[in-house]
Amino acid sequence: MKILLLGKNGQVGWELQRSLASLGDLIALDRHVVDGLCGDLSDPDALRATIRRVKPDIIVNAAAYTAVDKAESETELADRVNSLASQVLAEEAAVLDAWLIHYSTDYVFNGQGSLPWQESDSVAPVNRYGASKLSGEQAITASGCKHLIFRTSWVYGSRGNNFAKTMLRLAKDRDTLSVISDQVGAPTGADLIADVTALAIRQVLKSPELAGVYHLAAGGEVSWYDYARHVIEFAQANGEQLAVNVINPIETTAYPTPARRPLNSRLNTQKLRNNFSLHLPDWRSGVTRMLREVLNK
Ligand code: NDP
Repeated sequence: MKILLLGKNGQVGWELQRSLASLGDLIALDRHVVDGLCGDLSDPDALRATIRRVKPDIIVNAAAYTAVDKAESETELADRVNSLASQVLAEEAAVLDAWLIHYSTDYVFNGQGSLPWQESDSVAPVNRYGASKLSGEQAITASGCKHLIFRTSWVYGSRGNNFAKTMLRLAKDRDTLSVISDQVGAPTGADLIADVTALAIRQVLKSPELAGVYHLAAGGEVSWYDYARHVIEFAQANGEQLAVNVINPIETTAYPTPARRPLNSRLNTQKLRNNFSLHLPDWRSGVTRMLREVLNK
């Protein structure tokens, strides 16, 4: 079994290098050319040529244009990477009769209401990033290729930057922090996403009728504000010396950004849990593990 992984050094891509390794022969690429193979999603011709040379049984695409605010001004590049490249991957997968495993986002929804979004709910992105990711999803489903699309939310990895690390850094220097309290979702570990991906691939190879779009997020829900409090209280309880005394809840409207953010990022994961007989742990278990790694506790 030959697996082509794109975006190997992103948060999810890094963890997929681990979780996919036991499934088959893994060829993992980033945007650079290695041995004549190129995983640059902004270069459709090079991408096509790479897939035709590798002839994978499974393509796992963890690469994406993820700079949500910059996507408002770099719209053409965001569309090229998130939409056009998805179309190319899907067309090539269809020709090879290969599986395409892809990731998307709760930002395909408009964020209204407080119910967790189901896969069948209407989509209506409120920013360019969300629109580009939705267009990528639509290209994949329209291609007829065998696919799994996992919509996820609030991804963190222990490698690189993440929200919890940023809060800890700021809390070391600042007396007061202001954090958004009216956006709600579930922080989801890149390791969990990668493990679920490997598990789902194993099952879908035996049961291809399980193909489709799935919501994949950790259990429970929290606002950014309560997430920040959780992180800081955990650090203090474990002996970290922090300067912060006050954490203020603020509304999204008090923190203007180039891209609008949906308020309701809750995802209903019942379809994934039922179809793949999975348990998705509460967000706190993954965050606690990541914090222990970061704080070396
Ligand atoms: P990261 O931003 O951590 O990783 C994205 C990767 O894509 C990076 O390695 C980046 O490479 C690569 N990339 C960007 N542009 C190109 C390009 N032109 N060619 C090749 N590679 C490129 O993202 P995550 O791991 O967090 O995201 C994984 C998936 O989950 C994505 O589909 C994302 O849309 C989705 N998602 C993420 C969320 C989040 O909170 N992060 C929330 C919901 C969904 P480089 O480092 O070289 O730029």
